[in-house]
Amino acid sequence: MVSDKQHTISRRIEVSGIALHSGKVVRIEILPAAINTGIVFKRADLPGTPTVLAHVSNIQSTDLNTTIGSGEARVSTIEHLMAAFAGLGVDNALVKIDGPEVPVMDGSAAPFVDRILVAGISAQEAQRRYFVVREAFEFQMGDKWIRVEPADTTSYQMEIDFKSKVIGRQSFGFSMDREAFLDVASCRTFCHVNDVNAMRNAGLALGGSLKNAVVVSDDEVLNPEGLRFDDEFVRHKLLDCVGDLALLGGPIVGKVTASKSGHGLHAAFMKAIWARRHEVLAIVEDLGVRRNPPGSPIAAGAIA
Ligand SMILES: [Zn+2]
Repeated sequence: MVSDKQHTISRRIEVSGIALHSGKVVRIEILPAAINTGIVFKRADLPGTPTVLAHVSNIQSTDLNTTIGSGEARVSTIEHLMAAFAGLGVDNALVKIDGPEVPVMDGSAAPFVDRILVAGISAQEAQRRYFVVREAFEFQMGDKWIRVEPADTTSYQMEIDFKSKVIGRQSFGFSMDREAFLDVASCRTFCHVNDVNAMRNAGLALGGSLKNAVVVSDDEVLNPEGLRFDDEFVRHKLLDCVGDLALLGGPIVGKVTASKSGHGLHAAFMKAIWARRHEVLAIVEDLGVRRNPPGSPIAAGAIA
């Protein structure tokens, strides 16, 4: 984070591409937005162009993607675009979209990151609100779990374990800064070839191809170009985690650790933490205050 100010994009961005699950071409337009707007999606194709705030309270489903909704407005597969905003420190933006699903692009966040960097990012006249972890909080679902703990900086540590030999057990972690983020932003979503037919029968992944996902069999990667990193799979899971946790509404300051996580676990975790936010999180505008000795009062702003 370059400063403690809120940021928005400097210029309008236009992106179009295939939606992974519907297979249709979708166009999005990203516009600068005022302080304290957050990330707001606007369904330009619906009567009255309804909006939905990208926030944990608006999560509607997590079936292979993260879908938010409010009233008539539903938008799915927001996680990679949300990760691009979070990783680059964009607090406020309006995303106009002419369909129900964000385009998948190449299956990673890199195309969004590239366009945001070209448009530029501008500081705004308001302090950013950080979600500082005050006490450890863990959430389990079967053999999957995710935990946050207090720490002076923001870091993520992730591990996965898949049957396919090309994935297997992988772990990866990083401290959040722009350079480190760029090396997860380009990591693509993935699936097993056996799941492709199952998803299509369920009416999902109709736009999926080797151009927008890594497809593996039990013992090989089917994409002719291979992998972008040997551990691209776990890096992509980390990217999803960054994008989903952005739905808290501001950057977390703390240590995030997760095992076998996915959109469903992230959403359940955030709903649980949001219900206990007064105990677990402090919303802080000036991180200098937080660095006072233990026991001194934390300067918390109003809870959103
Ligand atoms: Zn993903």
